[in-house]
Amino acid sequence: MNLLKGVPRLASASLDLLFPPRCVGCDKDGQLLCSPCRASLSHLPPPYCLRCAQPISYGDTCQRCMASPLAIDGIRAPFLMEGAIREAVHRLKYYNLRTLAPLLGALLADSLISQAVPVTALVPVPLHRRRERQRGYNQACLLAREAGKSLGLPVIPHALSRIKDTSPQVKSPGAEERRANVRDAFRCLHPSLVEGMAVAVVDDVCTTGATLESCAMALKEAGAASVWGVTLAREPLSRSHGLLRGEPPSGV
Ligand SMILES: [Zn+2]
Ligand SMILES: [Zn+2]
Repeated sequence: MNLLKGVPRLASASLDLLFPPRCVGCDKDGQLLCSPCRASLSHLPPPYCLRCAQPISYGDTCQRCMASPLAIDGIRAPFLMEGAIREAVHRLKYYNLRTLAPLLGALLADSLISQAVPVTALVPVPLHRRRERQRGYNQACLLAREAGKSLGLPVIPHALSRIKDTSPQVKSPGAEERRANVRDAFRCLHPSLVEGMAVAVVDDVCTTGATLESCAMALKEAGAASVWGVTLAREPLSRSHGLLRGEPPSGV
């Protein structure tokens, strides 16, 4: 039921008066992300692997990507998953604060432009149907739609289907567990939608890269010309290091 239908602008203005937006970083009234908090967001510090975005000590490719290239052409994540970005992603994902989607989608769009990611279409990482029913929405799809609006790019929400109802990644601490968890989890049920396209797979956060890699394998099998993974944030080194292929940290 939408009692406010027909007066969206008035409704929005009234809601802003009743519930003024608060900054996700400092809780100050006025904006969802105030200027000082925006200026202090933690960017993924270079150097990082240009393929998998894993922090490295030197060079532009990590040892694992040199030894055994991934199916995905590259992963980009502008921010570290901490501070205001962590709070914003959590509120979008677990607390139904969908009003954050335009702001976060715009940050994602900025990253696609600044990183010169080749893209003709955006594909959100799908949730399993059961999980999407529980949550009521797919946060990756909200981000992709907002980024698509900013960039004038089409979004193909049904290009991929999540055929395995994997347990949430945050509950799977083991590297091999994480990898096995999403292996073959995705299928491209409509190859004609992505054939020959330069696809960017969109998600909120990249923990190990295993989910994006699994999506890329499905999309490339379906004929996508290139597949990049773009997320808003990447887990810091201590949590993400060495996990992409289920290998233990090597001390690099
Ligand atoms: Zn703030
Ligand atoms: Zn790498």
